[in-house]
Amino acid sequence: MRAVVFERYGELAEVRELPDPHPAPHGVIVRVEATGLCRSDWHGWMGHDPDIELPHVPGHELAGVVEAVGSRVLHWRPGDRVTVPFVCACGTCPACAAGDQQVCERQTQPGFHHWGSFAEYVSLDHADVNLVAIPDDMAGTAAAGLGCRFATAFRAVVQQGRMVAGEWVAVHGCGGVGLSAVMIAAASGARVVAVDVSPEALELARRFGAAQCVDASRTPDTAAAVRELTGGGAHLSLDALGSPATCAASVNGLRRRGRHVQVGLLPSADGTTPVPLARATALELELLGSHGMAAHAYPRMLELVRAGTLRPDLLVTRTIALEAAPRALAAMGSAPGAGVTVIEPWS
Ligand SMILES: [Zn+2]
Ligand SMILES: [Zn+2]
Repeated sequence: MRAVVFERYGELAEVRELPDPHPAPHGVIVRVEATGLCRSDWHGWMGHDPDIELPHVPGHELAGVVEAVGSRVLHWRPGDRVTVPFVCACGTCPACAAGDQQVCERQTQPGFHHWGSFAEYVSLDHADVNLVAIPDDMAGTAAAGLGCRFATAFRAVVQQGRMVAGEWVAVHGCGGVGLSAVMIAAASGARVVAVDVSPEALELARRFGAAQCVDASRTPDTAAAVRELTGGGAHLSLDALGSPATCAASVNGLRRRGRHVQVGLLPSADGTTPVPLARATALELELLGSHGMAAHAYPRMLELVRAGTLRPDLLVTRTIALEAAPRALAAMGSAPGAGVTVIEPWS
């Protein structure tokens, strides 16, 4: 198969011929229709993720067709169109037994723990626990983001964030997951304030239902701007980028008893990030995390997609071939572009 491979962190990846993968007894091989390009892939390529071993094939937001199944897989057949959460769960640890597969103790993430979906084929573990059928009429390019940006945003807003219609929701960072959160919150009846440094990203946020936009490139104190626009602060606020500045702005933009959900990854040399915790005490804030979404929680989200209330297809602003993926991956750090890029390995 052809795949995007890198041998050294931060060095331009190459498209190469690699051996076709074989399924584990509990796993499947999926022929990749489409795979999203995500900031997490960039973190992995830069060497920020300790789970990665070189050489490595990135890619964790995918949709495709089951090509081969392992001997112990009960519920899936070759030809089934599927996606997976980026956290593939084991199905048997205490977290899985409690229904919290998104924080599985023995999780395997394609594109991090093993070779991912920037390839013609990808191997996925514990298929019966993790695969999700894609609706027939849903394009692969739209389905590719369900397992990462869209499901993560859905869980952050609806489940962890417990959003209620009429609330003010601030979204700091309007890349793939941030724009998904804007769309999900607005479609669920929130008044959304979108914050980003890119006018193009804010234009998309407005199109997906943001009531207010804050251009962070021209606003030194975005938290103050959010408090001003929302009459005292957001009820719910997401750091969808993952940086010390956006994390602090999200917490500082909350009203009393507000909820902050940390969605963007915050890698740092010493593993810690400063957070304005004094404000959490004084205003009784809740600080939460969100880490993907378990496969069993997908039906509620897919129902809203099927009804047309949520439109993950509109987030995809660019499709590229595998050959263009190495440069697009490298650009993710400095010039990601507005909207979502999806790779089609067979195009
Ligand atoms: Zn992702
Ligand atoms: Zn588990």
